[in-house]
Amino acid sequence: MQSYFLILLSCSLVLTSCSEPNQPQPIAKLLRPAQDQLSQAEATARKARVSQISYVLDIDLVTLPDSYQGAVAIEFELSGADAPLEVDFTGGLVTSVLANGESVPVDYNGFFITLPPTALRTGGNSVTIDYQHPFDHDGTGLHRFVDPEDGNTYLYTYLWPYYANRLFPNFDQPNLKAMYEMTVRAATDWQVVSAMREDRVTPDGESTLWHFPQTPLLSTYIFSLHAGPYQIWEDQAGEIPIRLLARQSLASYVAVEEWFNYTKAGLAHFSEYFDIPYPFLKYDQVIVPDFLIGAMENVAAVTFSENFVDRGAGTQFTSQRRANTILHEMAHMWFGNLVTKDWWNGLWLNESFATLMASIAVAESTEFTDQWHDFYLTENLTAIGADTAVSTHPIEMPVNSTSDFFMVFDSITYDKGASVLNQMSHFIGQENFRLGVSSYLKEHSWGNTELADFIHSLSVQSQLDLTSWAQDWLYSAGVNTLEARVSCDGGVVNSLSILQTVPQMAAAQYPTLRDQRVQLGLFAENATGAIDAFATIPVIVSGAETPVPEAIGLDCPGLVYPNYQAWGYSEVNLDESSIDYLIDNNGLEKIQDPLLRSMIWTALIEGAGLNEFDDNALVDLIISAMGQEQNDRIIRQTQAALIDHLNLLERAATASPRPSEVLSRLDRFTQLAEAKLWDILMTGVNSTQTQSRLNLQMGNYIALARSDAALANLISLLDGAVTVPGLSVQPDLRWRIILRLAARGHESALGLLAAEQQRDSSDAGRLSAIAAEAALPALATKQQWVEHILHNADSLPFSHLRAAMGALFPTGQEELQLQILPQLTAASSALAAERDAYFLQAYGSDLFSGICSETGLQQLSAAIADRDSIGPTLYKFISENVQAAGNCLTYAAYTQPQ
Ligand SMILES: [Zn+2]
Repeated sequence: MQSYFLILLSCSLVLTSCSEPNQPQPIAKLLRPAQDQLSQAEATARKARVSQISYVLDIDLVTLPDSYQGAVAIEFELSGADAPLEVDFTGGLVTSVLANGESVPVDYNGFFITLPPTALRTGGNSVTIDYQHPFDHDGTGLHRFVDPEDGNTYLYTYLWPYYANRLFPNFDQPNLKAMYEMTVRAATDWQVVSAMREDRVTPDGESTLWHFPQTPLLSTYIFSLHAGPYQIWEDQAGEIPIRLLARQSLASYVAVEEWFNYTKAGLAHFSEYFDIPYPFLKYDQVIVPDFLIGAMENVAAVTFSENFVDRGAGTQFTSQRRANTILHEMAHMWFGNLVTKDWWNGLWLNESFATLMASIAVAESTEFTDQWHDFYLTENLTAIGADTAVSTHPIEMPVNSTSDFFMVFDSITYDKGASVLNQMSHFIGQENFRLGVSSYLKEHSWGNTELADFIHSLSVQSQLDLTSWAQDWLYSAGVNTLEARVSCDGGVVNSLSILQTVPQMAAAQYPTLRDQRVQLGLFAENATGAIDAFATIPVIVSGAETPVPEAIGLDCPGLVYPNYQAWGYSEVNLDESSIDYLIDNNGLEKIQDPLLRSMIWTALIEGAGLNEFDDNALVDLIISAMGQEQNDRIIRQTQAALIDHLNLLERAATASPRPSEVLSRLDRFTQLAEAKLWDILMTGVNSTQTQSRLNLQMGNYIALARSDAALANLISLLDGAVTVPGLSVQPDLRWRIILRLAARGHESALGLLAAEQQRDSSDAGRLSAIAAEAALPALATKQQWVEHILHNADSLPFSHLRAAMGALFPTGQEELQLQILPQLTAASSALAAERDAYFLQAYGSDLFSGICSETGLQQLSAAIADRDSIGPTLYKFISENVQAAGNCLTYAAYTQPQ
């Protein structure tokens, strides 16, 4: 993090040379360095002075070739006109400033405009700024994209967390809400979308003027402006007009009806859940190219990544993730947009809440009634993964500056936060949770809040003091482990308790034991031979051991699970007698409840991952379950674990003391898995989800394929020599196959890649081609991409660099990676100073991953040795890779012969 203190000090030391000597310097001017960020201290100081803000915007998108130009008239109240006031505006050009009717000399440093005290008044002020700004091409600000297929130009904004000040000069902080009126000059064939629906569209010469009436009070980061010849679909959700937009060349792939169905279901659901009508006048959703994240909750004009559009048939997961994301963004209209965090430390609550709300809405208002199974696999397990990584942190953290937001934009914020809020709703009761949230939203509508406001509303509703709950769960990192301890006598339980521990390696750092309400499940084989729950007991776990007297006298269970249905947030250790029972009784197959079956699989997969015991049994178990398991989520969970495991074996082989044994084990598993999966694909699957299942299994086969025979099968699928019954090989699937062939260094990859580029000129095709080219095991090609990444980043859209970074070092190419790593390490500190967080995330997480050698580990460790110089974002992502490399080496040292 760039030290605020150091900058202050250095400026003071050179005060006589950098500022006018011998004159008292206004304090506020010294405090704000010329940087693309806003500190919380600066925001707080400005909030204390500025209020009652409105903007009238006039933006011209078409007159200049590579920039937009505009004027903004800002009205605001000011207390204390005796100090300068800064208006944020990054990377533009300011042509004139008019304050309270007087022209003011332009004082602009490339990051903010300074209004002098002489131009300001205590009370009402009116400032008009004329400006220009280049279009962005890294996905932030006002991004411009030219479609390679038809040459159409598309624009959209991405203003979170601190990019609104590129679109126009403003006070860019969430707690200075304002009203916005806007006029936009656009090309005649464009649609223009913003927070309000346009009320006038007027032809004006070669272009068209769109007028958008004044909005209600909004934070800057959720304002928006999208424009271009988008294909548009319209419908109604009750009284609310809804629209969906996408690029023309992608339009035929958009699942419009499905999209509108989830939208309608969600708007009805949330109005009822929050007991507040939808707060805005219309609801638009725009699917956009090059998007940096999944989706963004701009008020009434949400943007979505084109990754949510399948070019070809998807799976039930792609449909469900789409529904989930649609509903996540929609939840923000109430929680986030109507009521908004005061500052960016509140990001977690905003995101955790929307994540939890999306799951409730999916479960209650769509066909995906097993959403909580998805929540367990997606949110709970991802959270636990992040919470056991070196980079874990408390959920609630200070965010000193907008440039630090990536410290909290992660799985702890989204997935752990959501898991903990879910746990809280079980702790205080789900209806109390809903009512508490509703009263919080009603009380603070159109305003800004802090965590204490949220906790207060829930405490009042539940009549529980949640202070210590918040302290334990939100201010300390780490996940606890629960294990049941049961003893029986004469066929009945004579004692049962739940033990709670902290992970051994984390005990010193995160020693907290926490209270939570879980559901203890007791299971046994029933008369039909199925393993089912015969008793469930809600328990408030507290401290190291929680006795469960309600269980005494019940039948002795075969299996005990202390977090049945995942009410709580914890890891689970199965007790020994439960493990014996499952093994002795062929228990996995007999467990009826798919969520519990998943949980048992998790315990097995985690247990066999990184420790000293032989994991052959797990892989054999997964392979033998192929074709038998009929739940798609579990197929996906277990086969993903298998794919990970085979990759781990391949990476570990060279570091193992017995490499040939590891490789022969890899070969054996690979051949077994490939053959079985191919057989499943070719014989088809009789189920109601045939197409979804086929796509899922095909994706797994591609990810597993290693042998010559399997790679040849993939080529036969591409050229049509072989067909899988029921499966059509459409564009996205074709590219997945080519990417796999490239990553495995198959001799045909380069030719197939060139042919596919001819066949598919779309943007998705272009990104896939970049990934496939980067994945080829060719040092010269990789060096070319590294050159772009390090030195030519401004000449290419960031989406292209990101596609290359994600593919550059697949499993099996560590030697090539080691040749390039010193160059990447050497460039790190310069990049940390120059590049934004999205670039640094891709750089640190993708380019330094997959290492499993002592040499590689030394290089990675050297890369993070100077923590200050590489900054917090790179440090975070590379340190996770250091941990993964260490784990892989530990695994390699312990790998046992077959
Ligand atoms: Zn969100």
